[in-house]
Amino acid sequence: MEAKPALLPEQEAAPAPAHTGGTGRDLRGYLAFLATHYPDQLRRVTRPVDPRFELAGVLAQLERRGRPPVVVFEHVRGSQIPVVSNVHATFARLALALGLPAGASVRAFTQEYARRESHPLPPVVVDDPPVQEVVLTGDAVDLGMLPLPTYHERDGGAYITVGFAVMRDPDSGVRNAGIYRLMRQGRNTLGVQLSETGHGHYIWRKYERRGAPTPVAVFIGHHPAVHLGCMSFAPLEVDELAVAGAMLGEPLRLARCRTVPLEVPADAEIVLEGEILPHVRAPEAPFGEYPGTYGPQRLNPVVQIHAITMRRQPLFQESFVGHADHLLLGGAPRLSTILKTVQVACPTVRQVYVPPAGCCRFICYIAMEKLVEGDPKNAAMAAFAADPYLKFVVVVDEDVDILNDSDVLHAIATRVRAERDTFVVTYARGSPLDPASYDPRGGSHIVTKVGVDATRKADYPEEIRVPGAEGIDPEAYLVPVHRQGAEPEA
Ligand code: MN
Repeated sequence: MEAKPALLPEQEAAPAPAHTGGTGRDLRGYLAFLATHYPDQLRRVTRPVDPRFELAGVLAQLERRGRPPVVVFEHVRGSQIPVVSNVHATFARLALALGLPAGASVRAFTQEYARRESHPLPPVVVDDPPVQEVVLTGDAVDLGMLPLPTYHERDGGAYITVGFAVMRDPDSGVRNAGIYRLMRQGRNTLGVQLSETGHGHYIWRKYERRGAPTPVAVFIGHHPAVHLGCMSFAPLEVDELAVAGAMLGEPLRLARCRTVPLEVPADAEIVLEGEILPHVRAPEAPFGEYPGTYGPQRLNPVVQIHAITMRRQPLFQESFVGHADHLLLGGAPRLSTILKTVQVACPTVRQVYVPPAGCCRFICYIAMEKLVEGDPKNAAMAAFAADPYLKFVVVVDEDVDILNDSDVLHAIATRVRAERDTFVVTYARGSPLDPASYDPRGGSHIVTKVGVDATRKADYPEEIRVPGAEGIDPEAYLVPVHRQGAEPEA
């Protein structure tokens, strides 16, 4: 059992399952794990912070200094509830969440994620769920009690950025969980952006076609392994909550909702139960989005909240869109799907990566052992098939370090003849937030894609090397330079 850190509420964290290496089974358990074993990765902010811009400003400046810690803002103006930020902001913390060492490679993370993803664990429903210690319904529902941040100058309002919406497919009965941005519009209403690429969009459309409201429950604040599982690119017929259990290493504990026919994680911090109203639209956004530009205002669906349930002393979790916390949470789970799909096309693919420089969305690097000419382009085509957000796929030889942008650029600079080694696909589906789409103001998801074969070709000249350089210790050759007149040391 981990020691209880001072910054957390009085409740004990849930007992830690062994599978995640003692990192707990909920958000507070994971924070307790960090406080005990990696205290330098956790910081508290005790002075009052304004949720409008100031909280985002602190996070932005922290990130500029590199290695952003988890931050607990204990006193956010206008709310009694602390805000937890940056849980997913480093690969080391994501690796720890899966029970891997903090220094695990991206490749090891991807393999472990893929292994767990292919063995979903069905969740179990429990009684007396922690997330229903407090149940607010009727007039007691007031979204104003939650410390929702406003991030950017022209944002249309305060947002829930890492709320997982749980819905059920009305035909198959399969549950779905995914992040959809939610803007606070009123005391009990939220605007929601259900991107055309998300399963939630298909489910909501099915209900609305029948003129029916879509039951939805949004859970906020959980163990990062649960979040990673819910971000899986699982097909529509797979319940992300079962994938979340696989990531956590034990069946996810669920609670029956009080006002909608859905189940939500019992160990979440906060749950919002409600319905997406049929044929109702309201302005939502602008919202500063991950490419560094505003997503345009749209007439989007409205969620009416019937109940807020939560722990007695809940934590609110946010994820600063476009920054490491948000980019890695969305980026790390796609590596598994890209790798598995590309390996079907080309078995000699070694590793894939979506660099932060490409928002962990638009650019993919593939390292492969090229045994057959032409394979790199097939690998690139497979990557495009795996992940619709990708716009640039660069394939390099296996000795190139694809975690290093400079090494990939060097391969492009020296091994690519554009008319031979690139291909362009116009009018393809991409991200509706792509600022270079065919109609960015309208939120078009139609984009152009480029594949690049940056492997060495058959006629590539011999590469230079210095014989014996690896065995030389340069320090053994160097002698210090002394100022004139100074006594040389013995
Ligand atoms: Mn799904």
